[in-house]
Amino acid sequence: MSKIYVDIAFPTAVRRLFTYHTKEKNIAPGMRVWVPLRKEFAIGMVVQVHQRKPEFETRPVERVLDESPIMDETMLKLTEWIHRFYYCSWGEGIQAALPVGLNFSSEKRVRAKKGFIDKLTKLDEEIFSEVKKYDYTLQEAQKRWRDGKEKSALKRGISSGWLQIWEEPRQKVDYKTAKHWQLKADVDAENLTSELKDKGKLNKWEEAFLELAEMDLPVTHQSLLTISDLFTPYTLKRIEEEGWIESLDLPVKGGDDHGRKYEPEKIKTLSETQEDVFQSIRTPLSKKEFASFLLYGVTGSGKTEVYIHALKYALEQGRGGLVLVPEIALTPQTVQRFYQIFGDQIAVLHSRMSDRERFEAWQHLKSGEKNIAIGPRSAVFAPVQNPGLIVVDEEHDSSYKQYDPSPRYHARDVAIMRAHMDNAVVILGSATPGMVSVKAVMEEKHSLLQLPDRPTGSMPSVEILSLKEYKGAMRGSLTVELFEEIEKALAREEQVILLYNRRGYASFLQCEDCGHVPQSPESSTSLTYHKKKNILLDHYSGYSRRADKKCELCGSENLSSKGSGTQQVEEEMAGLFPDARLLRMDRDTTSGKFGHRKIYEQFLHGQADILIGTQLVAKGLDFPNVTVVGVINADTELAFPSFRAGERMFQLLSQVAGRAGRAEKPGVVYVQTWKPEHPAIKHARTHNFKAFARQELASREMLIFPPFSRMIVFHFKSPSWSKVQMVAERFCDAMRMVTGENVVMGPSPSVIEWMNGQYQWEANIKLKRSHNAFAVEKILDSIFEKYDSIKPKGASAVRINVDVDAIE
Ligand code: ADP
Ligand code: ZN
Repeated sequence: MSKIYVDIAFPTAVRRLFTYHTKEKNIAPGMRVWVPLRKEFAIGMVVQVHQRKPEFETRPVERVLDESPIMDETMLKLTEWIHRFYYCSWGEGIQAALPVGLNFSSEKRVRAKKGFIDKLTKLDEEIFSEVKKYDYTLQEAQKRWRDGKEKSALKRGISSGWLQIWEEPRQKVDYKTAKHWQLKADVDAENLTSELKDKGKLNKWEEAFLELAEMDLPVTHQSLLTISDLFTPYTLKRIEEEGWIESLDLPVKGGDDHGRKYEPEKIKTLSETQEDVFQSIRTPLSKKEFASFLLYGVTGSGKTEVYIHALKYALEQGRGGLVLVPEIALTPQTVQRFYQIFGDQIAVLHSRMSDRERFEAWQHLKSGEKNIAIGPRSAVFAPVQNPGLIVVDEEHDSSYKQYDPSPRYHARDVAIMRAHMDNAVVILGSATPGMVSVKAVMEEKHSLLQLPDRPTGSMPSVEILSLKEYKGAMRGSLTVELFEEIEKALAREEQVILLYNRRGYASFLQCEDCGHVPQSPESSTSLTYHKKKNILLDHYSGYSRRADKKCELCGSENLSSKGSGTQQVEEEMAGLFPDARLLRMDRDTTSGKFGHRKIYEQFLHGQADILIGTQLVAKGLDFPNVTVVGVINADTELAFPSFRAGERMFQLLSQVAGRAGRAEKPGVVYVQTWKPEHPAIKHARTHNFKAFARQELASREMLIFPPFSRMIVFHFKSPSWSKVQMVAERFCDAMRMVTGENVVMGPSPSVIEWMNGQYQWEANIKLKRSHNAFAVEKILDSIFEKYDSIKPKGASAVRINVDVDAIE
């Protein structure tokens, strides 16, 4: 028989596969192997098994780590797509899709090597024999012998070779186990049962056995004790002594369902419009066909209820489902709504889970024991079996895009691709869909579904406060109007949310008299202000000029740099409202494990009067006692140097508006801005998403920004400024040679020029939107090939990251 060859993916940045050979006939794609790689060993994933002998000498597979594939064909195909489209290695794609414990982790272990024994000191010998006895990892050994003499003995052992370091695949994350009882294999339970029944009067332990013999075994010791008085440690032990049952340790499920109510009968009857929407989704589901929908409906219009009905239908079809939500929206309330209807069929995935919990959730889905996964971005890879429905809620949310580490995937697009491969239906839900999805609807790639009404309550009103008009009528950074409304709300013992934006690192120049922020003539985005060099810079195109001395619009010399010092807002408010209790929610105050939740609970329970926060407060939260929401300076968002600034502003205002006035008390959102006529603000005031989208798309089209192009951003990083600039420039030369002049923008220093000891530059290329994974890969391959042929000396000191469909 000819040799079996396997192509293996590794989680390194190298975008190619490696071929090995093996005699294992059962080897299959989706299994992990332990193989020699250069001078060491590494874990790799088999992605192809074949019999084509390569031209080079192959090395053998050392060990096959899985008995059966841990990734099915679809997941392999999906990660291959990610590999091509997001231009990472296939292994990186695979790594993202697997939980720790099943991915590529390995660890160093210590082993005792024979033959040195006579040269050792007493201490050495102790260490030697202990290592021999116990299977220590290097880390464990270093902890065991961490001080003084012992530490040096360990070091000496390693350097002189009587202790050896081995790299080994890391043990799987183990299940938590518990004692279970089962019948012994050689026991004829039926026979025993009838014998006992004939016997008449029975001992308690015999009765317990009769009961046990009727049950679905194995069961946990602990649960038996709670079922019936017959089961006690004594009776169970007695049966064991009789040789009828035996105990064994088996994995148990982590029980995190405390306090959740399972009441599937309480599923709500859909309204007429919801029913129509549901029927459109039901049709392709029943035919097991791929379909993609954009479900457009304001917050509170009943989208979640539609997801629930669609999921229920998918389950009835014997299929599973995935629900993606932004991490922040994964609040107990959201989970409870799904739990109420689906109970233990749900696996909830979130970032606060331990490796073991994540691993267990993964196993439950993979085994089919559970069939619904709910979670943020990475839940798109959850091994739900035969998924029929994938929901991406708040599809416009930027947390769906992974930035670091590679793969820089967009979970929404991965979800669409996965649905495609699985003949499933995908629903993208939002009150403010992203322009990419809106355009896809216009091109009939997605079908549009709408839920226009809000069943309970009306939309809160949005008041625009023009900073131009309130000049001279300000209390610090608040217009008198907003100041007074806050005072009134506080007097009524209602709550207030104040929003400021923390895009502090991008500073910009603003005219104090008319509010104008200089725009780039080349990309129509705001210019960032670089104080040190006193220049204004467009970080898309690289355009720059000396910072203006006078306002382009009104000629005022009263220009100031903005964009930092956001914490001061809290101090300022403390001065303006000395009696109010303030709470701040931003990246600093929510960094702890439950930071966000804690602040949320505090505010909900009325332990503070004013919540001051960044975009974070706008997401997924519901505060019935909030009647005033203030956006202190909308221009901070608009001045962010991105072509998506307007889209983001609109989304932000809509979300904020959705937070106010959901209960009986109507709320008002006050937006302070220098630009009341900006489309994002004007249309947010009237909750007119469609008008906004029309205007936004028109201006994007003019400049060929996404969704009218596919934008790929390259990040160049190095501790050396001159090298990073040189490489970025040469790389752009290569791009221009391959693709022509007009689609390349840059290079230019990044908005954050210097971070973690590295200078950062970037460049962009705009490809046709129609470029699919293969086309993107082909162009990038040619660019890198060209670059390799012209790259300057010292180029290897510069890292180049590729971010396809970057959102920033
Ligand atoms: P969205 O997901 O669009 O924000 P939800 O599904 O959360 O909207 O609905 C908002 C509120 O209206 C929720 O409290 C929900 O329970 C209620 N609701 C939605 N649909 C119905 C329905 N058909 N019958 C009764 N209540 C509903
Ligand atoms: Zn001006």
